[in-house]
Amino acid sequence: MDIIYRYDPFAPIEMPKIPDVESAMGRLIEGNDRFVNIVTQMQERTLGLHKGEPMVIPVSPVTLGLPLFEGVMPTQAPFAAIVGCADARVPTEAIFDESFNSLFVLRIAGNVLGAEGIGSLHYALAHLGESLRTVLVLGHAKCGAVTAAVDAYLSPEAYVDIASTHGLRTIVDSIQIAVRGAARALTLHGGPQIESTPDYRSLLVAVSVYVNAAVSALELKREFQGFVENAPAVNFSVYDFESLKIQCLPTDDDNVTIPRYLPAPDSADDLFQYAGDVAKAFLALDDDALDRNCRLTVKL
Ligand SMILES: [Zn+2]
Repeated sequence: MDIIYRYDPFAPIEMPKIPDVESAMGRLIEGNDRFVNIVTQMQERTLGLHKGEPMVIPVSPVTLGLPLFEGVMPTQAPFAAIVGCADARVPTEAIFDESFNSLFVLRIAGNVLGAEGIGSLHYALAHLGESLRTVLVLGHAKCGAVTAAVDAYLSPEAYVDIASTHGLRTIVDSIQIAVRGAARALTLHGGPQIESTPDYRSLLVAVSVYVNAAVSALELKREFQGFVENAPAVNFSVYDFESLKIQCLPTDDDNVTIPRYLPAPDSADDLFQYAGDVAKAFLALDDDALDRNCRLTVKL
C-alpha cells in the first residue's frame, strides 16, 4: 500500500476557514480519524488482509503551512493550542495529521501547567487570537507521569524516590488532585473493597488520566477568565493507544458513540461528576477490554 502526499498544482491553495470552536474541533477529529485510517490500513496490509489501494492525500505548500514562494515567511496562525504530554508515543501533529503552522503545541510530562506553560498560552491568546479558536488539553492512556503520581499516592513511603527533585515533585504533586478525585470516584462506584483488588493500581491510573486532563482544562479556563475578551473555549480529551482515537470515556463497544472531547468543567462538582462517569465506564468494561484499555502490561 502506498500513502502518497501528492502536490497538486490545481488544488485550492487557501486554507479552509475555521470560524469557531466547533469547526476547530471538527478539523482535529477529522485529522485524528485520517491518522487512524492510515495506521489501520498499514496494520491490515502488514497482516496480509488486503492489498489496499494507494491513499493519496493532496497537498500544496499552503495547506502544509509552508511558504508558497522562496523567502516568504508565513504569519503564525494556529487554529488550536494543544496542551499535551511529553510522551514520545503521542506526537501531537502526527495524531491529528497536521503539519506546519496549524497547532500551537505545549508538551509537558503529565500535561500539567506551570507558570511558563500558562505564560505561553497567555502569549497565544494575546497575539494569535485572530486564528486561535480553541485550547485542547490532551492526556493519554498509560501515562508515566500519572502512574508516578498514583504510586506516590498508594505508597507514600516511596514518595522520596519517586519525587526526588524539585522538578519531579512539581509534576507528581500537580497530578495528586486528579488521583485523589479518581480514587474517590472508584470507591464510590466500585465499593470500598475495590481498593484491595489486584487491578486497583491499573484502574486508578486509567481513571486518573482522564480526570487529570479535565483538571488541567478547568485550571486553564479559570486562568483565561478576564485575561482577554472572548478567550477561546478550553476543551479536553485523552489519546487512547488501543483505538488510536481521542476520546473522553473508555468503551469496548464499537457501536457506542462516546464524546471525542468535552468542554472544561465549570466547577469542582462538575469535575467530580465527570470522574464518576469515567470510573463507571472503566468498571463496566469486560475482562478483555480491561486488559487492553487499563492494565499496566506495557512498559511505561
Ligand atoms: Zn504522559
